[in-house]
Amino acid sequence: MGVYEELGLSPIINASGTVTRLGGAPWPAEVLEAFCQAARQCVPLEQLQAAASRCIAEATGAEAGIVTAGAAAALTLGAAAILARADLGRMERLPQAEGFPHELLVAREQRNPYDHAVRAAGARLIEVGFHEPQAGSGVRRVELWEYEAACSPQTAGVFYVYQPDAQPPLEKLTAWAHGRGLPVLVDAAGELPPRANLRALLAAGADLVAFSGGKAIRGPQATGILCGSKALIASAALQMLDTDDYSELWEPPAELFGTERWPGLPRQGIGRGFKVAKEQIVALLVALRLFAAGAYDRELTEQRALLEEIAHALAGCPVECRLNVPADGESLPLLEIALTSGDARRLALAICRRLRSGNPPIYLGHGLLAQGKFVVHPLHLDRAAARVLAQRLRDELAACTS
Ligand SMILES: *Cc1c(COP(=O)(O)O)cnc(C)c1O
Repeated sequence: MGVYEELGLSPIINASGTVTRLGGAPWPAEVLEAFCQAARQCVPLEQLQAAASRCIAEATGAEAGIVTAGAAAALTLGAAAILARADLGRMERLPQAEGFPHELLVAREQRNPYDHAVRAAGARLIEVGFHEPQAGSGVRRVELWEYEAACSPQTAGVFYVYQPDAQPPLEKLTAWAHGRGLPVLVDAAGELPPRANLRALLAAGADLVAFSGGKAIRGPQATGILCGSKALIASAALQMLDTDDYSELWEPPAELFGTERWPGLPRQGIGRGFKVAKEQIVALLVALRLFAAGAYDRELTEQRALLEEIAHALAGCPVECRLNVPADGESLPLLEIALTSGDARRLALAICRRLRSGNPPIYLGHGLLAQGKFVVHPLHLDRAAARVLAQRLRDELAACTS
């Protein structure tokens, strides 16, 4: 009996990709091996994070970096670093930030549920601009002068959620912000691949960038990366690491904390609840090395074949299949299955529910359900799972449309 069956759970067929709710990414064998090896011995965590900083710097071109408990934790720590900088008193007070600059400017169109992580540090988000195209009221997106107009003595920095078409372009925004002495924190949690983004957002001037470790990098689900300026990363690291030691004995690794003397050792910081275990750090670094080297690209042909097989098996069903194969040679192929009968949304939800409650439970990608479409992500699938999925989908389509 497997560990999940012992707990009364049935492992699922996951055709949703790396979503957090279903457990994240599958680990490559090297990552699993590194995790097990790291669990057998102990090392000082600040030294391990200093080594991580070296690896992250190599992969991203950043001055420094730390492994965090997910991209969301990286956003909280990044905001905490921007608010507190090297001020131990401010570190101790967060998330109470009254009395020092704690406002982060953000485009209204970039607001999203994950920015709770930024607010959790004590930052106040000040929205700028509108989103006319979304509202159907006009053609303009957010503009730089709107950031300028929102600046006040309380402004501590800028928060930016990266997308290929995000406005204003990141390099324009960072040029403006730096002219104002403001750092820019970027949420790029899911913006890999392309792996060029590991470097491109920092090269565009971002001061701090947050990536998920448990999405395309395929590290542990509860890991992320915060990388960028050395001073800000030092502040973030100090606010995350366990600091219960004698100040006289504290020897901060220079590559993470610089060579200047800190005025003292801060107390447990706002990031203490986001600690990352040694084996997670090591596993993430191995996954990052594989991802940055393009080691996953060779799976794309096989993944495409699996999706073609599923589409083939659905011939004769009331659906239209469309295989999306990104041209970048890095991104996963995806299979869209559109229901062709009337009331496609209701039917798609009904079939999804039946697939989830069957045996084994099957979870299809749900991003386009409202349009009456299923999405099949191949990352967790093998041939056997793909066959079961196709057969079950055929059965449910027949049951629900007859
Ligand atoms: C996934 C995601 C996050 C959260 O990342 P975790 O690594 O799960 O903490 C934050 N922001 C965006 C835009 C995301 O897509």
